[in-house]
Amino acid sequence: MKNSYSLTRHLTKLRALIILVSLVLLILFWFSLPNPLFNNPYSIVVEDKNNKLVGSIIAEDGQWRFPLVENVPDKFVTAITQFEDKNFFYHPGVNPFSLVRAAYKNIEERKIVSGGSTITMQVIRLSRDGKPRTFYQKFIEMILAVRLELSFSKREILALHASHSPFGGNVVGIETASWRYFGRTPENLSWAETCMLAVLPNSPSLIHPGRNRTRLKAKRDRLLSKLLQSSEIDSLTYELAIAEPLPEKPLSLPKLAPHLTFEISKQLKGSNEEVNPRVKTTIDEATQKRVNAVIESNYNRLKANHIFNAAAIVAEIKSSNVIAYVGNTDDELNKNENWVDVIMAPRSSGSILKPILFAAMLTNGELLPKALLPDIPTQIGGFSPQNFSLGYDGAIPADKALARSINIPAVRMLKSFRTERFYNLLTNIGMTTLTRPASNYGLSLILGGAEVKLWDIAGIYASMARSLNNYSNYGASYYPLDYHALNFIKKDDAKIIGPGFDQLEDNSILNAASLWTTFNTMIDVERPDDHSFWRQFASSQKIAWKTGTSFGFRDAWAIGLNKEYVVAVWAGNADGEGRTGLIGITAAAPILFEIFNSLPYNGEWFEPPYEELVNAEVCARSGYRVSEYCAEKDSMWIPKSGLEFPVCPYHKLIHLDSSEEYRVTADCEPPSQMVHKTWFVLPPAMEYFYKSKDFSYKTLPPYRKDCFDAITGSSPMDLIYPRDIDKIYIPIDLDGTQNSAVFEVAHRKADASIFWHLDDEYLGQTQNKHRMPINAEKGEHKLTLVDMDGNIFETKFEVLSEGEE
Ligand SMILES: [Zn+2]
Repeated sequence: MKNSYSLTRHLTKLRALIILVSLVLLILFWFSLPNPLFNNPYSIVVEDKNNKLVGSIIAEDGQWRFPLVENVPDKFVTAITQFEDKNFFYHPGVNPFSLVRAAYKNIEERKIVSGGSTITMQVIRLSRDGKPRTFYQKFIEMILAVRLELSFSKREILALHASHSPFGGNVVGIETASWRYFGRTPENLSWAETCMLAVLPNSPSLIHPGRNRTRLKAKRDRLLSKLLQSSEIDSLTYELAIAEPLPEKPLSLPKLAPHLTFEISKQLKGSNEEVNPRVKTTIDEATQKRVNAVIESNYNRLKANHIFNAAAIVAEIKSSNVIAYVGNTDDELNKNENWVDVIMAPRSSGSILKPILFAAMLTNGELLPKALLPDIPTQIGGFSPQNFSLGYDGAIPADKALARSINIPAVRMLKSFRTERFYNLLTNIGMTTLTRPASNYGLSLILGGAEVKLWDIAGIYASMARSLNNYSNYGASYYPLDYHALNFIKKDDAKIIGPGFDQLEDNSILNAASLWTTFNTMIDVERPDDHSFWRQFASSQKIAWKTGTSFGFRDAWAIGLNKEYVVAVWAGNADGEGRTGLIGITAAAPILFEIFNSLPYNGEWFEPPYEELVNAEVCARSGYRVSEYCAEKDSMWIPKSGLEFPVCPYHKLIHLDSSEEYRVTADCEPPSQMVHKTWFVLPPAMEYFYKSKDFSYKTLPPYRKDCFDAITGSSPMDLIYPRDIDKIYIPIDLDGTQNSAVFEVAHRKADASIFWHLDDEYLGQTQNKHRMPINAEKGEHKLTLVDMDGNIFETKFEVLSEGEE
């Protein structure tokens, strides 16, 4: 009784022990699977918006190992299971029958000819790379294989297998192999191609050229034959498949957007979070290929003029998604810094910021679209901007000045708007490269004194267009966050939400009416008329565009947009070498238009934001709001803010004598005898240039002699040094540089300004003290002085060289 009791107690204890040990083993078993299973680094794979391969970067260990495939193609599943593991879908990770068969075979052959490994066991083996091939290791693999089956579906296990199998050389995984050997995705492979990939991981070295290739083909064909026998393929498919040759040497992987691929890899490497090395972008493969082709064909044109680099970016305005990104030209032979991603490189902006200033001034009521701006020689604090044409119009309407990209009116606009204010605006709307203080750039900011990235400029113009498009969508209001950079990482559409009602604002940094006016002005950007391409283009698409050329012909820009797309182009030399032919209109604009021609075009244009526009009367000659003296009036849509702009200052009421040939004053003519007339009068410096451009311009009639004397006595200015001006001698220094002679003039009015011109070239302006250094070469010259009232003093003189006299 005691014995049996003790036996029962022992059995109970034993049972408890067994349960405990089993539990421990079970727990050990459950946690035996390493997580993650694979620790290998992956290649960075960049895909377009439809998951097409755009580019890739080799993994850190020097392998082309694409990230885990999401789905293994059915053909490959059939082929790999037929070849490696016929019962894959039915066994729990280990197949006892094939183990027994393998053992029998190995004994019969007296060497190891078969491992009896299942695909699951192979996955484990691949994940434990480098472990010796011993029975103990095999046993561990079997346990882990069973464990793997508990957590992963059969399809997932196949994906792990296909993604980590070696395919010869440094090619790992079916996707890489498919691209390297066939130049296509695994989904698009034939049966012969699929079977070659199915037999390769078993002996990857067979891919290398030589006698191996015959063995590889034999192996592939045996698998095809098995597929025929098991009725996976029909006999015709089989006959065609075995006739297919093996691929030639490995192909290079697609490189549709190498600079974007590199930019993405840079961002991924800089990220602290765990990142998916398979990056889905917003690129559209077809557009990317077309833009690549446009850059390539234009490159052949540009390089003849020693312009070796060009870049282009195309983005959708609504989504801000980049659909094409060409960071540079591609030329293996020239190697002209083609690796530089010009889209992200700060370059001198040229005139590309002028439309933004135009829109900003319209928004603030500081400009009207057709208001006359001075285009005269200008010196501001030692800065004397030059027009591209080196001439002056005297006065030019603001819209024309923008369309023709005249520098001097732009500089004077910025002076009135103030550099710091414009600088802050640019920073607010997305310019990230203003690294120096505003005062450091000064007025040259509007002429390319600052650097800008093509990336930023495309983002800024896209934001402007987006804000205008959304103005009516948001019920005549603004969403400040419509201003943001472009984006090339694909986002989940469901996560994109519009602004809430409380996030909308009544005003914007650039209002809709001003943007609409600016874009309309940019349609008229002057195109060279000796080029039939431009006329042909003009009829096909409506595009707001602007070019830019940086100082020294180093950068050629073109930016263009319609309601849906923004395109930005840069051409030049990455090393900064200037070329005389390197100007926006000839180097960059043709690329811009070719790209627009390749984009879908629905003919739509921005809707006029009527809530912010007003039909106003403006002076037909000055573009200002009409004054009571303006004779000809135009009515046009202007931004409501423009009602704050002054009335026309140029139409004046003048008093003539009865002959209407002379001006008179009340001092010399009784008012009853006077004829009152309105007259269009520009300030002298503007008039001086303007009258030679516009022959309808009539200078003010002179004062009648008796009236003139009553006002001034005689000529209001006179030359006081040199007095004897007929012949003068300007000394030359020992080193050959010519000195200047300082001329001095007196003016009757104490606060008069005098504009100096030598041989019709403007020299400068003097006030109060009228002294001007004149540096004239030997020969005859003409000195012209014009004062604020339009009085002109002119004299000729001759410069003598040393020894003459
Ligand atoms: Zn007027």
